[in-house]
Amino acid sequence: MLQQTQVKTVIPYFKKFTSEIKSLKKLSSTSERKVLKLWEGLGYYRRCRNLIETAKIIVKKNRSILPKTLIDIKKLPGIGDYTGNVLLALVYNQPRLALDGNVKRVFSRIFNTHEKKLDFEKIIEKNRKKLFFSKRNYDFVEATMEFGALICKPKEPLCSLCPINKFCKFSNSGKNAKLTDKVKINKKSYNIFCYLNKYKQIGLTKNNNLGFLKEYNLPVVEEKSKKNKLKNWNFLCNYKNSISNKKLDINLYYKFSSKIPRNLNWYSICNNKEFIPTFTKKIFKQVENLY
Ligand code: SF4
Repeated sequence: MLQQTQVKTVIPYFKKFTSEIKSLKKLSSTSERKVLKLWEGLGYYRRCRNLIETAKIIVKKNRSILPKTLIDIKKLPGIGDYTGNVLLALVYNQPRLALDGNVKRVFSRIFNTHEKKLDFEKIIEKNRKKLFFSKRNYDFVEATMEFGALICKPKEPLCSLCPINKFCKFSNSGKNAKLTDKVKINKKSYNIFCYLNKYKQIGLTKNNNLGFLKEYNLPVVEEKSKKNKLKNWNFLCNYKNSISNKKLDINLYYKFSSKIPRNLNWYSICNNKEFIPTFTKKIFKQVENLY
């Protein structure tokens, strides 16, 4: 849940999730529909599907035991170096660091060097004894990430409070190096189409090829030329939305119709039992005003 999502956002979801699903075994046997419903609103739904798949593999093939090596743990769906290292440190107290953006920034500042020029694995290997002396590796892996988030913050690091400021080159050098490259934000326009019928139903599809709208969703087409006029559709509104590193410019169109294309299914706008991504739910609210 914490991949690309802040702790304060995750907390209520985590509590609800773990109050309903209390064990790996339970997770492996709960329907995808139900688990997705618990995840609804948190976004990046592939994480949820990977979690279910991983639970099934561990329960069925590994006697409910998490693998103990990075090579084996990375064979599980959705687990890469970062998550693998966190899990091995938290669960098995192995001496590991998880190189997220926060931790990389701390190292880059200590050396006052652009992160692309640093070989993080080599730095960790060379400083193993200094880094992992406490034997509380489960705390250490978490503390390093929190340190980057709360003390060595991206914009204004709290150097006067920092216990390692004596040997931090960033803090002591009059000339600060550029540490990271700016993340490119993609701006794109999309047309989204709402087929509506008199029963307050809307046409949804599972066939969108766009990564951010892969879930059960409204038909969407990337708008490449603004000059295109859409025949037979009513324009509802234009609005902006941000997902991950994308800025979306959305044109919402609708029409009332008793028929829909074959790859769509009718779905009741008022039905709150099924999992529907938040992005789509916001659109439901907008079309509800048409009734
Ligand atoms: S001294 Fe400042 S820049 Fe250096 S690690 Fe500490 S908080 Fe970060």
